[in-house]
Amino acid sequence: MPEPRHTQVLVVGGGVGGYPAAIRAAQLGLAVTLVEAGRLGGTCLVRGCIPSKALIHAADRFADAGSGASLGIDTRAPTLDLAKTIGWKDGIVDRLSNGVAGLLARAKVDVVAGSATFSDGKTCTVETADGPITLTAEHVILATGSEPVALPMLAFGGKILSSTEALSMAALPTRLAVVGAGYIGLELGIAFRKLGAEVTIVETAERILPRYDAALSRPVRRWLDHNKVALHLGANVTGLDGAGRLTLETANKQPLALEADAILVTVGRRPRTQGWGLETMAVDMDGLFVKVDDQCRTSMKNVWAVGDLVGEPMLAHKASAQGVMVAEIIAGHRRHFDNGSVAAICFTEPEIVSAGLSPDEAVAAGEEIVTGQFPFSASGRALTLEAGDTGGFVRVVARKRDGRVLGIQAVGRGVAELAGEFAHALAMGAALDDIAGTIHVHPTLGEALGEAALLARGHGLNI
Ligand code: FAD
Ligand code: FAD
Repeated sequence: MPEPRHTQVLVVGGGVGGYPAAIRAAQLGLAVTLVEAGRLGGTCLVRGCIPSKALIHAADRFADAGSGASLGIDTRAPTLDLAKTIGWKDGIVDRLSNGVAGLLARAKVDVVAGSATFSDGKTCTVETADGPITLTAEHVILATGSEPVALPMLAFGGKILSSTEALSMAALPTRLAVVGAGYIGLELGIAFRKLGAEVTIVETAERILPRYDAALSRPVRRWLDHNKVALHLGANVTGLDGAGRLTLETANKQPLALEADAILVTVGRRPRTQGWGLETMAVDMDGLFVKVDDQCRTSMKNVWAVGDLVGEPMLAHKASAQGVMVAEIIAGHRRHFDNGSVAAICFTEPEIVSAGLSPDEAVAAGEEIVTGQFPFSASGRALTLEAGDTGGFVRVVARKRDGRVLGIQAVGRGVAELAGEFAHALAMGAALDDIAGTIHVHPTLGEALGEAALLARGHGLNI
């Protein structure tokens, strides 16, 4: 084995947590090595956020092509070549992953392709195409991400798919069963329904999207019902029968077998903590996750951890923000991480955005609150986008005493792009009057936030 290579900062994982950390550390003058076992960009770029949003966009285009009758538009019945759609999606992934390689090269980050295995907190061996190399470092940033949770009675393989395989299917399944009505299962289930599959969703909780409050998930439920997506709520999957059917116990304890050409299991993701020597570092854990403080320090000196590895919310922008912060702390800046303004989006139909506290969460936190909710049925822009009659709204939650905004949520077609304004308001510590006093551009969906703030103040204008 060649002599160990020494670096100041060793980043393990080139996903959206790891690669921004490496670039930022290099920008700040540190010598950086990044090890990536798969493709640069990680889950988000290769098999997560980007491919799923590409598929959702293609599904929207397909569904829209045949649906203009009420606007006086008649287009011929569309056809689908899924292999071509997947090829288009793969082209976007290639472009972004190659782009990350280019950014790392420009920042002079030393990229090592291979899987890192640690023997102690600051030493790892990487099996590269040219043989094993040993790396040692002053600082180690762990960013190994997460992987899909499998159900014991439905091991991945054959027609049992995780989100990764579902995003690269060669042909559209006629009948798709989705196990787990969290955001990943619903985003993909809705996209496949729009592309023409018959979709059935099985969920153990009593309603879809149980992590969101009921008001936000209701318009999505309406869409599912309207589009004949079969739902089995309060149901438990038991496995496959001899005929390859998905078996479950329904809410009223009846056995049921569902025919399905493909079964997508989306029952959560868990941090990737096994198989690369994490145990040799003896860092403290927080349940399944690596335990970190508000600067992403682990219990071992100069070993840091970011992204899905360290806990909820398992979101790309949180991973990146933590990675950049750690690079800056190593370079001597004073930083800490605050989850409070990390917004989450469900790219369902319609979309959901949630930033900060919901009304129930704010009350549970001991706050006395006021809320304002403006429906898209009263928004001119929403009506011009056919987004007025889906039950959508923007809601603002504020502290009664001083009007400080605690949370902003929205559901409706196209609301994903409002997430930036919501996060910005929370990050800047906005009060209701700041939002109401901002002149929102007409006609946009964003006006609904200004109106919601006015309603919370007790003097709505347009309703
Ligand atoms: P990852 O992106 O998982 O990257 C970890 C990297 O580490 C991987 O590339 C892996 O190969 C590498 N690695 C692991 N172990 C080693 C080792 N020992 N040696 C070398 N390399 C190693 N989030 C959003 O914010 N918005 C969305 O719309 C969204 N949609 C999603 C849709 C789907 C279908 C999925 C699955 C996820 C989605 N997510 C979304 C979540 C998002 O992808 C993750 O939060 C994000 O990728 C976490 O980044 P990370 O850097 O922590 O980990
Ligand atoms: P989940 O969202 O966990 O959904 C899995 C679903 O499967 C659940 O509804 C569960 O009841 C169901 N299920 C589990 N077992 C079975 C079974 N045997 N049969 C049938 N159904 C089953 N994390 C938080 O902790 N709190 C949050 O509020 C939160 N909000 C998020 C919001 C968004 C928009 C995003 C992108 C992520 C959020 N996360 C949150 C993080 C999220 O949990 C992780 O990114 C990841 O676990 C999501 O994967 P999933 O959709 O597969 O799982």
